[in-house]
Amino acid sequence: MIRATLTFAEADPADVDRLGGKGAGLARLTQLGLRVPPGYVIATDACRHYLQVGGLPEGLADEVFTRLEELERASGKAFGSGPVPLLLSVRSGAPISMPGMMDTILNLGIDRRAAVALAQATGDVRFVADVVRRFHAMYAETVLGALDPGQGLEVLAAAVGPDDDPGEVYDRIWAACEKQLQDDCGESVPDDPRAQLLGAVEAVFRSWNTRRARTYRDFHGIPHDLGTAVVVQSMVFGNLSADSGSGVVFTRNPVTGAPGLFGEYLAHSQGEDVVAGIRTPDPVAEALPAPLLEELRTTCAELERTYGDVLDIEFTVERSTLYFLQVRSAKRTAEAAVRIAADLAGEGTIAPAAALRMVTAEQVRQVQRPGFADDDVAEARAAGRLLTTGIGACPGQVSGKLVLDSDRAKERAEAGEAVILARPVTSPADLHGMIAAEGIVTATGGSTSHAAVVARALGTTCVVGASALVVDERARTLVVGDRVLPEGSEVSLDGATGELFEGAFPVATPAAATAALDGLLRIARRSGDSTVLARVTLPADVAPALAAGADGLVTAVDDVLAATGHIDGLVQSLLDGADDMSAAAFDRIAELVEEEFTPLLAAAGGAEVGIRAIDLVADEARELLQQTAVTTRHPALSVPLGRPALVAAQLRGLAAAAAAAGGAARPHLALRHVSDPAEARALRELAAESGVPVGAYVTSPRGVHHVAEIAAAGDVLWLELRALQAAVFGLPARQLLTAEPLDDYLARGLLTCDPRSSVDPAVVGLLERVAAVRSCPLGLRLSGTVSQETAAQLHALGFRRFAVDAAETRPLVLALGRAAAG
Ligand code: ADP
Ligand code: MG
Repeated sequence: MIRATLTFAEADPADVDRLGGKGAGLARLTQLGLRVPPGYVIATDACRHYLQVGGLPEGLADEVFTRLEELERASGKAFGSGPVPLLLSVRSGAPISMPGMMDTILNLGIDRRAAVALAQATGDVRFVADVVRRFHAMYAETVLGALDPGQGLEVLAAAVGPDDDPGEVYDRIWAACEKQLQDDCGESVPDDPRAQLLGAVEAVFRSWNTRRARTYRDFHGIPHDLGTAVVVQSMVFGNLSADSGSGVVFTRNPVTGAPGLFGEYLAHSQGEDVVAGIRTPDPVAEALPAPLLEELRTTCAELERTYGDVLDIEFTVERSTLYFLQVRSAKRTAEAAVRIAADLAGEGTIAPAAALRMVTAEQVRQVQRPGFADDDVAEARAAGRLLTTGIGACPGQVSGKLVLDSDRAKERAEAGEAVILARPVTSPADLHGMIAAEGIVTATGGSTSHAAVVARALGTTCVVGASALVVDERARTLVVGDRVLPEGSEVSLDGATGELFEGAFPVATPAAATAALDGLLRIARRSGDSTVLARVTLPADVAPALAAGADGLVTAVDDVLAATGHIDGLVQSLLDGADDMSAAAFDRIAELVEEEFTPLLAAAGGAEVGIRAIDLVADEARELLQQTAVTTRHPALSVPLGRPALVAAQLRGLAAAAAAAGGAARPHLALRHVSDPAEARALRELAAESGVPVGAYVTSPRGVHHVAEIAAAGDVLWLELRALQAAVFGLPARQLLTAEPLDDYLARGLLTCDPRSSVDPAVVGLLERVAAVRSCPLGLRLSGTVSQETAAQLHALGFRRFAVDAAETRPLVLALGRAAAG
């Protein structure tokens, strides 16, 4: 017989695929000797079977009940009876974390007999009423699909007096729930605890396929066929007494990454209250009694060392005894990811390679992303535009139009607006709105509430627990004290400080990256074996690029001349040269090059500077002509060596600039579109006199075909990846710079590889040929953002020298360090 169930004590914690993340974590905690309420896991295979066949696998029910008997023996409690009744939680847990997306049923196993026994065992009928109403509401909602059955029952349970008869209390709540269910879906909560258990297991299986779970998986690229495991575990009660409660802690701050326990605790509550964001909990360091806090601290520190990662831990206290209910790798902001990786490596908890694996290129990009200017914020504060301050849950500074529900958020975002979603509280039903929004703000909930956790997973700026806010969905207004903002008003949100402002701010690039990022990038550079050159145009760009970790620089003659205001002169010279090839026109270009490259090369000092020669194709020249209102003949310049005098002029200018900048300057000039060894050799001859090293920028499959000979004729070789991809796809290179029509093609499945962001299989063979070049330094010129995967792929193909846009320097340094560290 295939064992579909495994106890926490016997399961292999490494088998996450079958146990799910939650089951695996509970198995590990149990086996580490921590206090975990006993239980077992129904493996994911059973869920897959259920979803395919529509019923429980044969023998599963028997196995579930055999395990139940074992649990009864182990706990000394009885399921559905006294003297002490065993109550269960039935919890979902997928192999890949999907927080809050699937169902969990607590307090299961309560019938009239168990309720009476529980009252006797605890001497607290009000507690029993709380348990009964929680169970009924949860079962009705999650298993039977009733709509919001909770509130009426809560009122009823709250009205129970300490001397009421537990049997009658049970009947009252049961009847009220029944009545609601009859009006709603016509089904009943089964009063047989065993039937409850099977019903709950099936419901957890089904919750794998709810709309919100599917949306979450689509968004995060999680396969739909994994299935969820089910954890069946005996309950502990945080809602039992004043010295009970429940909480969630992170072993470090998941927002900033700062060391030290960070979390929340709510006395006299059941865990669901904190997670759902219904009540706002207190900081754990203030709310938890000292001995418990100490125990939690010690355990968390040990667990962090064991796992080599920052953890998110759910716990419950029952009558001053601490129980662990869940452990998982903590979701964190990009800022926190960087700081945590740097700190854990610094402390020696993890190896450098592991630290690099904890951060992605995309997270580095987020850390250096734009925000508000301090002065603007100070001015807004002084002008009274600060509306309120909540709890910062995910950093970021965003402005946008206020929207009050998730459907509208999606609608407005699709219409191209930046929106800030304000909600009293969020639930999984808000996911589409949260994905659409630039920022999220809620009135209730703490930093472990649904809104906070989901926002961090999405990387969306978020503020929670802004309790001064009242979202009036009828009037379509957001009310803050005596201020009323209609939906659609401009607001600004700071996810780090928790501030919400009236009005919009301009966003700008922040100053230098944080110290933690620099620390991590030092590790990446030490572990890496690659060279990164950053693209610059002005002398002022040089220092920031080198500070970001660039080993050298790249630029283009036409870019530099355009940026320094010489476009008119350049175009005029080109036109003059086109007419009569007069030496004077080219001398003028040589002068401009000398003038503008002297300060650039001086700023670069001894760093290598790769310079692309003027290469204006007819279209661009025509555009320039229009811009500059010069209306004579169009020069056709797409074949650079068709005009040797132009190349010679640039070489003269560069040689003069290098001399003027001092002996250390290391420029080289490269020509685009070289596809023939003869052209490469002609370039070498032309350059001999100037003493400036030269080489080719290969952009075509033909160039790749001849790459060995082209390389042999030059001092350097560059391959322009985007141009090569465009050529292989047969697309104009410009099409790779825009969203349309490629986005649409990809969405409709008419194109299976996005040439803007990944390397096409048809290009890989060409790259292999290029990577074999040994006769001179070989570099890849990359454009736009470079994903972690692409960087790793190019590294694996053997490339070790890259040129990127300046903003991509840090992300690429990290990605390459990561690729090299394995
Ligand atoms: P999720 O996957 O959404 O985090 P969980 O299965 O972790 O759902 O359950 C939600 C909450 O229910 C937990 O945070 C925990 O506080 C509470 N809970 C789950 N199991 C138990 C249990 N055995 N005893 C007490 N509380 C529990
Ligand atoms: Mg949980």
